[in-house]
Amino acid sequence: MRRAYNVMLEMQFATGARSARPAHKQAKHYTSWKEAKAAVAELNVAAHKATLGSAHVMGGCPMGDDPKESVTNSDGKFHYLDNLYIMDGSLFPTSIGANPQHSIYGLAYKLSATLLTQFQA
Ligand SMILES: Cc1cc2nc3c(=O)[nH]c(=O)nc-3n(C[C@H](O)[C@H](O)[C@H](O)COP(=O)(O)OP(=O)(O)OC[C@H]3O[C@@H](n4cnc5c(N)ncnc54)[C@H](O)[C@@H]3O)c2cc1C
Repeated sequence: MRRAYNVMLEMQFATGARSARPAHKQAKHYTSWKEAKAAVAELNVAAHKATLGSAHVMGGCPMGDDPKESVTNSDGKFHYLDNLYIMDGSLFPTSIGANPQHSIYGLAYKLSATLLTQFQA
């Protein structure tokens, strides 16, 4: 947690921030990297004190043809079982760097339509 706070604070001051505050209940706005680094060293990083959050987690089960580098094939089928398909944001190779909902809807629609066709064949 401290390393994460420090990396983010250092980047912000290096790119010109005049003040920055880590996501921690006890933290304040700090006006220099030196002040921030000293304060982070004193923060209590126990559970429920330090805040963690993520909204765009992707890439946990990436799709691809090579089982060494992917979890599913390009139809979303798990490489090692015939009756397991994955159709969600985990299929992307990594976080796509933009709001993902429409891309996830599109991917899930395409893959489920393909699966339906296979069941009907
Ligand atoms: C606060 C916040 C704000 C966001 N804002 C935006 C935005 O403005 N625009 C945008 O495009 N994206 C936004 N996102 C991201 C977007 O919501 C997600 O990327 C997207 O919903 C992921 O879709 P998904 O189908 O991959 O997973 P999810 O929507 O997380 O669906 C996973 C589902 O699996 C279920 N599940 C989990 N474990 C099990 C289990 N063991 N058995 C059965 N079911 C299980 C869960 O209950 C859930 O319904 C936001 C996310 C958050 C958290």
